[in-house]
Amino acid sequence: MSIQDFRECRLCAWDCGVNRTEEVGVCKVNLPEVAYTCLAESLESYSITLLGCNFRCLYCNAYRISQYPATNWFYRGYVEPRALAREAVEKMREAGITKLGFTGGEPTIHLPYIELVVEEVRRELPELQVGFTTNGFASVSSMERIVKMCSYITLEINAFRADTHLALSGAPIEPVLRNAAYLMAHREKIRAFKTVVIPRINDREIEAIAQFIAAHDPSIPYHLVGFRPSFMLYYHPGPLASELEAIGTACQKHLEHVAWGGVYPDVSAFADYGAQLALRYAALAGCVSKDRNCGRCTLKTSCPAILREPWLCTPGERKKGGSGHVTG
Ligand code: SF4
Ligand code: SF4
Repeated sequence: MSIQDFRECRLCAWDCGVNRTEEVGVCKVNLPEVAYTCLAESLESYSITLLGCNFRCLYCNAYRISQYPATNWFYRGYVEPRALAREAVEKMREAGITKLGFTGGEPTIHLPYIELVVEEVRRELPELQVGFTTNGFASVSSMERIVKMCSYITLEINAFRADTHLALSGAPIEPVLRNAAYLMAHREKIRAFKTVVIPRINDREIEAIAQFIAAHDPSIPYHLVGFRPSFMLYYHPGPLASELEAIGTACQKHLEHVAWGGVYPDVSAFADYGAQLALRYAALAGCVSKDRNCGRCTLKTSCPAILREPWLCTPGERKKGGSGHVTG
């Protein structure tokens, strides 16, 4: 790890220039800390989640991680990079997987640490594939390093209008679009672009994002995720299936691979029946029992009712291998 990158930190587009061994910049974090590590079965990947973020998205569903340390939750903390690499190699060998993913928060703010972990893991597993999920706010040189290091990258674009992006994330959009364009010039490194669809905030700009992507390459996958109330948008409603479907369909006019999921089911038909509505939610998540008595269920030790990445587990995605529709 080049400690110099942290002594005069310009890892992201905030370009703070602070010495992170002694002070903090916009991201508010000193040296890299690990929230947790896990085997993400649905992604067939060993995942390392790092604390802190250079954005402050109103809707952040990982805000206890992204806004660390202000959230006062306790996590794993600093792990010596070689020790983290050894642990990753052991777990990946056990699971028979070759993918190692970095997420957060925003992993870019810990890039030199990640590079060292990757270097160590690659020594043991030359077939390693590295994944990275980012808000796209890296500095020019960090983005080049990320693309060079990674096999597949997911980049989130929160909005298309500059004022919406700023109001939603607390950060300007220009670096994100610049980095998105840079990534699209390295098409083979893209896993997907992603947008969290928030009714009445960014939902009227999603098709413009699809057009922006399509202008580079219409074959690039685009994932739309229905917003769920969280953080500073705790009281804001998510999109209905019909709303997300309309947006997804509009994007399909421009892009070949659009997937969407994570909607608000239309609950109006169940308004007077609380138990029926609860059963409906459980069924949507995969519950097979008619009465929700987990003690009597034949699948009680292997319950399939679990939420994973919406576009990977919705019925539409499984059947068609394309757009994931969740019907309400
Ligand atoms: S990672 Fe970004 S926000 Fe954090 S100190 Fe460095 S330049 Fe500033
Ligand atoms: S960029 Fe992602 S992790 Fe950071 S605040 Fe926004 S939603 Fe949360």
